Amino acid sequence: MGFSTKAIHAGQAPDPTTGAIMTPVFLTSTYVQEELGKDKGYAYSRVSNPTRTALEQNIAALEGANEGMAFSSGMAAIDAIMHLLQPGDHVIMSRNVYGGTYRIARLVWEDFGLQFDFVDTSDLQQIERVIKPNSKMLFIETPTNPTIEITDLAGSAQIAKKNKLLSVADNTFATPFLQQPIGYGFDIVVHSLTKYLNGHSDMLGGLIVTSDKAIAEKLRFLQKSVGGVLSPFDAWLCLRGIKTLAVRMKQHGENAMQVAQWLMKQKQVSKVNYPGLEDHPQHEVAKRQMCGFGGMISFDLGSYAAATSFLKKVQLCALAESLGGVETIITHPATMTHAAIPPEQRQKIGITDGLIRISVGIEDVEDIIADLNASLNT
Ligand SMILES: *Cc1c(COP(=O)(O)O)cnc(C)c1O
Repeated sequence: MGFSTKAIHAGQAPDPTTGAIMTPVFLTSTYVQEELGKDKGYAYSRVSNPTRTALEQNIAALEGANEGMAFSSGMAAIDAIMHLLQPGDHVIMSRNVYGGTYRIARLVWEDFGLQFDFVDTSDLQQIERVIKPNSKMLFIETPTNPTIEITDLAGSAQIAKKNKLLSVADNTFATPFLQQPIGYGFDIVVHSLTKYLNGHSDMLGGLIVTSDKAIAEKLRFLQKSVGGVLSPFDAWLCLRGIKTLAVRMKQHGENAMQVAQWLMKQKQVSKVNYPGLEDHPQHEVAKRQMCGFGGMISFDLGSYAAATSFLKKVQLCALAESLGGVETIITHPATMTHAAIPPEQRQKIGITDGLIRISVGIEDVEDIIADLNASLNT
């Protein structure tokens, strides 16, 4: 079955009692049992809910994994993954993971005895260099946020395997439409559903997939024990959004390529980060492991003053946190999404005061470019 067919049908058989083609929103906390010890597969909605199950099966199918677990946010999902570790364990993370992931690592998990090294995982040697006897997990994001660096999925999974590290990929930016890390050897893939998978900026959610039975069992246990589960209504919204994932991702990619090429020609722009551009340092890796380059671009205007003046003028492009919706969203990472990262660390990883991140939407690309042009050149 092709990707679009799976996106529309996987996990969603017509409702057996009514024939409803859409999976109903099962707004119920509990389920009546026929007799003691005999239920219909559902007992309590923190443990499982049919609408949530449909979404979990759908995304597992899209990622080429066996099992999925949905959470109330991307951060709740990432937090559940960290519960697989023990105090004293060491984690190697991409140096510019999502700002919230960096924050919870430094300000929450370190207090519970986990240790972290943040390295440039686009350079595989840097991963190997920090591996210690207590290293237990490799956690990567590719493309990274907001400097759009690419990590070699096959190469990094191989290093993890060789060193017995649990490998985790945050696939939020790419989505399974563009790349499927499980197929490259990753143990776990995590998503913020809030972004491209739902795609309509109207819910918050997270999801983990894996094909490893033992890991799935532990994660399911954590899901019901900790309880940060996705609501049935949000699961339904996300199922609805995913039906158009393929067409959306194609358009995001087409628009982003045109915006990136236009940005390259602007004299005020000192740098454009987009893996579809031939001068991107990991363009070849991106071409090999992704079937498109996505909708995320960042570019540098050289100074905080230039960035503020530009962001004050944009009209169509919404100045906001988040990404992956049908509408174009523009962000100043240093003061918005990545404000939790100390200034020195930000400089080191390329999040300069002049850096702008743009989540290119699926509006008419001429209108997006016209807005950028008016904001940059008047
Ligand atoms: C947004 C995001 C998260 C966190 O997800 P929430 O749904 O906001 O909790 C994690 N990783 C990446 C890459 C993200 O963009």
